[in-house]
Amino acid sequence: MEYLTLGLILSREEGNEADSFLHIYTRDFGRIVAVAKSLRKITSKLSGHLLPGRLVSVRIVERNNGGWQAVDAVSFGFLPSSAESLKFLRFLKEVTPLNESDPEVWKKILAAVESGEIRREVYGSFLDTIGLGASLSKCANCGGEVAYFLPKDIIFMCKHCFQRSLISGNEAIDI
Ligand SMILES: [Zn+2]
Repeated sequence: MEYLTLGLILSREEGNEADSFLHIYTRDFGRIVAVAKSLRKITSKLSGHLLPGRLVSVRIVERNNGGWQAVDAVSFGFLPSSAESLKFLRFLKEVTPLNESDPEVWKKILAAVESGEIRREVYGSFLDTIGLGASLSKCANCGGEVAYFLPKDIIFMCKHCFQRSLISGNEAIDI
């Protein structure tokens, strides 16, 4: 089966041969992992469209093993390349469930990309939508007031515990 959907490219990793593996947050299927064939070949017209931070109209095919293949894409918007954008993309990759569509999350992604900057409030709003209830959560360590969210471990931390944890600021979302 082949589908045409919209999506935001969250990450791209190079695999064997010239293939690449993409995490894409799609309007219709939520976050998917899709392989793109021959993406690194110099003639690949797809390559420039399938970059992290691009909003794309993408044609995907369901593979026999349950995965996806991206066969065509045209980008129609993008996040400016910055540390803030990368943090946002990594956040979405880590907190959104695989293969589970959520129209509310997609709407928020579009609004965030169109606004051109990822503001601090955006994270709390995503966490609420995803059901991680940022506003209610307590520090995973001491139960204190939350200052940071750690997407990798999906936990919240207070300022004090975070500073003592020696976790890099790159891995934490200030909320
Ligand atoms: Zn704490």
